[in-house]
Amino acid sequence: MATTRGGIDLGGTKIEAVVVDGRSKVLGSARRPTPTEGGPPDVVAQMAAAMVEACTSAGLESSELRGVGVGSPGLVDPQTGAVSSALNLPNWDQEYPLAEDLGKALSSVVRVGNDVQVATDGEFSLGAGRPYKSILGVFWGTGVGGGIILDGKPWIGRGGAAEIGHVVVKVGGARCPCGRRGCMEAYAGRAAMEAYARKQMKRGKKTDLFELMEERGRTRLTSGIWWRALERGDRLATNIIDRAIVALGAGVASAVNVLDVEAVIVGGGIGVRFGQPYVDRIAQAMQPHLFNDTRPPDVRVAELGDLGGAIGAALLARGPRPRTSRSPRLAAV
Ligand SMILES: [Zn+2]
Repeated sequence: MATTRGGIDLGGTKIEAVVVDGRSKVLGSARRPTPTEGGPPDVVAQMAAAMVEACTSAGLESSELRGVGVGSPGLVDPQTGAVSSALNLPNWDQEYPLAEDLGKALSSVVRVGNDVQVATDGEFSLGAGRPYKSILGVFWGTGVGGGIILDGKPWIGRGGAAEIGHVVVKVGGARCPCGRRGCMEAYAGRAAMEAYARKQMKRGKKTDLFELMEERGRTRLTSGIWWRALERGDRLATNIIDRAIVALGAGVASAVNVLDVEAVIVGGGIGVRFGQPYVDRIAQAMQPHLFNDTRPPDVRVAELGDLGGAIGAALLARGPRPRTSRSPRLAAV
């Protein structure tokens, strides 16, 4: 089946692999934990194992795929498929030939893109972004990632565009995981919210968050745990999420003031888990900051769900070349 493609979402905690048909319908999938020790070859071995498992569940061999697309964290060279500075992956600061190595393991052609950008491409082509020509993807999870599509084309700037999590919402504000202060992610990212919750608990604030975490056998506050705490009316959890929404409103509205996109698509672990009611709250929180406040953009929850990153990555494997209208070489043609 020449139209069957593979897609892998390489995350800091899990590797999600899918096999899709020519219409991007999922035929098989598999999930594996991301290695926390070793180095790039160990991560690649786990990615290959996940892809082989997804192929098995779809009833085919990896060599039968038209190709495999990967959404990767860190700095990605879309031409060579090499990845560097993937700081959430074990010992992956130097450049490593991900596409080449994984391609050998799977006997297939591998193309690599930025994880958040491929998820945005996925929503644009197949999900909530379909009705629009220009969108901003906001991925609300461990951090807050962004992706931009303008007039139908991905915008990556010089490679560093769409870092919406690091839009400043408060000068001199809370310390961000990136080391700077006052970034939106410092208030809305799951990692930052967890650190803040721990600090507040140590200062004597009451919360069920960490009890819930232990009950569920988790080591960190997942989206599901935050959700349960909100349902129970946990006051600290409610305050921290309210604070996150205020920050998201300011940060996303500021980006909209610059880009004037038709729609904002909110995905990521928390975005997808919390769904449209919370996305509507973000839209409300944006409103006072929108310069063009009579024509706010549509704000919608991502449609492709948990597999969106992997399904978006599989789009990279469609043609003879990746969607590199973004590549300077092609743009010059
Ligand atoms: Zn930051």
